[in-house]
Amino acid sequence: MKDIDTILLDRDGTLIEERHYLRDPDQVCLATRIAAPWRRLAHLGCRFFLVSNQSGIGRGLLTLEEYRSVHARLQELLQAEGLSLQDSVFCPHGPEADCDCRKPRPGLWRRLVQAHNLRGESTVMVGDKVADIRFGHAIGCAETVLVMTGYGPKEALALGLPPLDGEVQRCPARPGWPAWQASDLAAYLTLLVQRKEHVHAHRI
Ligand SMILES: [Mg+2]
Ligand SMILES: [Zn+2]
Repeated sequence: MKDIDTILLDRDGTLIEERHYLRDPDQVCLATRIAAPWRRLAHLGCRFFLVSNQSGIGRGLLTLEEYRSVHARLQELLQAEGLSLQDSVFCPHGPEADCDCRKPRPGLWRRLVQAHNLRGESTVMVGDKVADIRFGHAIGCAETVLVMTGYGPKEALALGLPPLDGEVQRCPARPGWPAWQASDLAAYLTLLVQRKEHVHAHRI
């Protein structure tokens, strides 16, 4: 079993509830049930990073200042639960900019790798869109997770994934498919805790 120590999170529809081009800090709503497994994983040495496409900025639908105030609120909510992000990177460009940092392209990963000395083989990418999964594949991370929140159900249908039975399940190995499908972020983090504690117990 791969030993994951780096957790890359998409923002909208994954870490927080999906809102169309979110610009109001009062609309930030954390995904439920994440606090306990997140704290446990942090205790076990995992680091969390936010990797987000924010094309609303490039499209002129929200300003950089609005993005920053939303992010400040997100950090406040995380802090209240005893959670923290090691770093947060985002692409502010619209699709037409053809930049290197809009997921699924790997530009954001390269910024994190340089700043934090990350390794793809111990990294997981969690998101609610096909672009998140393709990003995970592009950066060569150990595993990818599609959550069934936000756009997840629609994207699972588009990919032709088998229906999710329970909280979390492994996907058959097919090109373009995620390694895991999870009902939400909490379901995957809980699985990761179980896997890590199992590995830990065997080492003692
Ligand atoms: Mg998303
Ligand atoms: Zn970009």
